[in-house]
Amino acid sequence: MTTIHLNNLVKRFGTFTALKEMELEVHDGEFMALLGPSGCGKSTTMNMIAGMENPSQGRILFDGKDMNGVAMGRRGVGFVFQNYAIFTHMSVYDNLAYGLKVRGVAAAETHRRVLAMADFLQLTPFLKQPSAKLSVNILQRLAIGRSAIVEPAIFLLDEPLSNVDAAFRAVMRTELKHLQRQFRQTMVYVTHDQLEAMTMADRIAVMDHGVLQQVGTPLQVYDDPINLFVADFIGAPGMNRLKGTLAQADRGLLIDLGPLGVSAPLLAEVAEGARRAGVTQVIYGFRPERVSLADQGGIPMEVTFVERIGARTIVHLGRGQVAVKAVLDNNVGLSAGAVVHVVVEPDAVRLFDAASGVAIRPATPKVR
Ligand code: ATP
Repeated sequence: MTTIHLNNLVKRFGTFTALKEMELEVHDGEFMALLGPSGCGKSTTMNMIAGMENPSQGRILFDGKDMNGVAMGRRGVGFVFQNYAIFTHMSVYDNLAYGLKVRGVAAAETHRRVLAMADFLQLTPFLKQPSAKLSVNILQRLAIGRSAIVEPAIFLLDEPLSNVDAAFRAVMRTELKHLQRQFRQTMVYVTHDQLEAMTMADRIAVMDHGVLQQVGTPLQVYDDPINLFVADFIGAPGMNRLKGTLAQADRGLLIDLGPLGVSAPLLAEVAEGARRAGVTQVIYGFRPERVSLADQGGIPMEVTFVERIGARTIVHLGRGQVAVKAVLDNNVGLSAGAVVHVVVEPDAVRLFDAASGVAIRPATPKVR
């Protein structure tokens, strides 16, 4: 059971800064996802936690103890990579048993734990098979089992599911979560797949260009993204965004959307937050799941494309250069060319400063 504290962590490769002053606390037993696009510094961060790379600046603390100078093998860290590192000349059983044997665990205890881990990861039918003959899916499961079996206090997984097929990935998402719950490890999981992060993590650290953007529960980063990058990156499709200007009308403060007309009046706390922020040019954001299409009112737009994705339908809408997506039930009964009115639920509106992309927070009511 261990906490991880990344304290002002910086990594430079020559003149290039891959990680900029990262400050992050991973709680004891927490499942933290590092999420971001390729090249944002996720693996660099993981490699430093594991002890494979040294920070250029800053500290890594496990339970308050500075890990600077502590070798990888002495950090109590299990690490699973995208490319499973297993001994292909050994059987599945021997691969699982390996870490316990080198730690001097008694044979009977090793046998018990190998069987339990094989059962947990559904590897029992393969125990006697040489690993070289296994499918990618089974190999990755074995790689996870091999690291997990020694019950490291910290478990680091770097894109462990990126090479496996989609169906297996869905199964493994659930299994990894169960594994972490069972062993109560502190887990850091690197992924560029927001669905993986959303489904498994207790909290998500969203990164871009070596900068930590936001840390929060899946719902916090989805509902209240700190900036437009997070609003886009989280959610599939990402948040809709329309350019607008704050305008005072008789009905209240609203957003003038130019050729698209005007928004409905903002909720009082959103309007107050916008007033306090002192900006006029804003981005009017709303999730595709939080709109309805009506015959009148709202923002008139034309259906450009109807995309069936199984459980739901994504309706693509456009007007001039502006595009909006709505995620709706399958019974929408619309086709390209239809004119509809996009109605945004008032509490779904998220405002951003158009210049900086930073979220404009609603004002919290004064406590009396
Ligand atoms: P990916 O998912 O593609 O691995 P990532 O978010 O894990 O992306 P990193 O691998 O951490 O990103 O890389 C961050 C940046 O640092 C990238 O621009 C990468 O090219 C650079 N980088 C990583 N390792 C080195 C190195 N050893 N020397 C120079 N640059 C490096």
